[in-house]
Amino acid sequence: MSAVDQPRPLLLAGEWVVGEGVPLEVINPADGTLYGVASTASTAQAEAAVSAGVAAMARGDWAERLPHERAAVLHRVADRIRERAETLAQIQVSENGKTFKESLGQVLSAAATFRYYAAVCETLEDELPPPRGRYLSMTAYEPVGVVIAITPWNSPLTMGAQKLAPALAAGNAVVLKPAEWTSLVSLEMGRACVDAGLPPGLLSVLPGRGDLGQALVDDRRIGMVSFTGGTATGKAIARAAAERLLPVVLELGGKSPNIVLHDADLDAAAAGVADGIFAAGGQSCVAGSRLLVDQRVYEPFLDRLLKRAASLRVGHPEAEDTDIGPLAAFAHRETVERYVEIGRREGARVLFGGSRPTGDVFDRGAYYLPTVLTDLEPTATVCREEIFGPVLAVLPFVSDEDLIAAANATDYGLACGIWTADFPRAWRLARAIKAGTVWVNTYKQLSIAAPFGGFKDSGLGREKGIQGLRAYQETKSVYWGLE
Ligand code: NDP
Repeated sequence: MSAVDQPRPLLLAGEWVVGEGVPLEVINPADGTLYGVASTASTAQAEAAVSAGVAAMARGDWAERLPHERAAVLHRVADRIRERAETLAQIQVSENGKTFKESLGQVLSAAATFRYYAAVCETLEDELPPPRGRYLSMTAYEPVGVVIAITPWNSPLTMGAQKLAPALAAGNAVVLKPAEWTSLVSLEMGRACVDAGLPPGLLSVLPGRGDLGQALVDDRRIGMVSFTGGTATGKAIARAAAERLLPVVLELGGKSPNIVLHDADLDAAAAGVADGIFAAGGQSCVAGSRLLVDQRVYEPFLDRLLKRAASLRVGHPEAEDTDIGPLAAFAHRETVERYVEIGRREGARVLFGGSRPTGDVFDRGAYYLPTVLTDLEPTATVCREEIFGPVLAVLPFVSDEDLIAAANATDYGLACGIWTADFPRAWRLARAIKAGTVWVNTYKQLSIAAPFGGFKDSGLGREKGIQGLRAYQETKSVYWGLE
């Protein structure tokens, strides 16, 4: 048996051990070859990971370290990530087909996330609310305990860092359950954390299937669940958590509108709209998958957009000139294809793409062309449901009233883009559209310092920013009588 077939160990309470669950094969979506095998955790190992977290919290050897001491460890995690940047990027490319360029950017961003939360950890203060009598009151923040972090496959490094860094900075223990398709890169991020000197028992990274995630959520000893993934899974977790009043942060799906007003810079907008949906093959929660374009500029804008779509190079994710790699898995490509077929049945005209590219590497990998669909009713399935692929549904609008109604006509509320030269109008629209993030004359710009999350079915709570650390803490007020 070659090394590639050997199940890789998982990280259980800071130790590398072989998982006792059924191993997971990781198939490279660029060419269909076996990239590696992840061993998975058994239920007993999941329980052991939570027990180790509980014990580490009871010892207090992390939560009671001074903030600048915790921050020093988080800085070292960032160092370890940067030292292994190329390896981490390469693993992600081989697991989910993201281009090497994007993956490397995400590795560096993950390191920056650990640095940001190191800084927040070191500088964030408890509070002294003004007294209303002869007493002093203090508001202190305490860790929630063992955090279960569950991540999806599209951006495992970004999502992993966005959970691990603030949860650890806040003084918690963490058990990370990555998505099946991206187990190995998540384990490597765990390695960076352990090598940086986290106390034993504080962190586990347990690959496994959905039932492992559920077993971790169902463990009565945990303090919180931080989940990023699909809305159906998020709601199942919320139901389990509700019964125990367990805190949750849920970052879920989206069907975000990208809006082009008549006075927009059409070239800039075409670039932003194309990038917003086709980058990463549309496998992004904030993908701008609905284009709402002013009827007055419909033809000239589509003309520019189609030229832009045609200029994007679909190809092997490691090739330097590739803009769009394969979809993350063959099964996922079938889902995307099913949606495009539904769109066709619902009357869509396919202006671009709508099929697999063919020949050479395309025949071996899970590739799909950027796709533009028009002539749809706003109620069509492909205008309402998240496809999570490079598929753009185009809808014209006439008035702001119609536009706002159309923008809000999905169950989701994650993000929105507005392209215009009219800033007062952009502000009015930004306030009227139900979305956790609104971009004006840009798209997919993300800062670790800005809170991120969704309205409606796109989630609950916020990650990132200072709120993103506070989400992993309990708030306690202590009163001191002065007479
Ligand atoms: P899923 O909801 O299918 O899975 C997410 C994670 O949950 C995986 O680790 C999965 O494991 C695990 N899981 C599955 N079932 C359960 C369960 N019953 N209890 C606990 N955990 C479970 O989402 P995908 O991985 O398919 O990711 C795509 C989705 O993620 C899209 O909807 C996308 O919009 C959303 N997303 C949201 C983001 C945001 O910030 N709002 C960012 C990125 C993605 P397994 O892999 O074994 O199924």
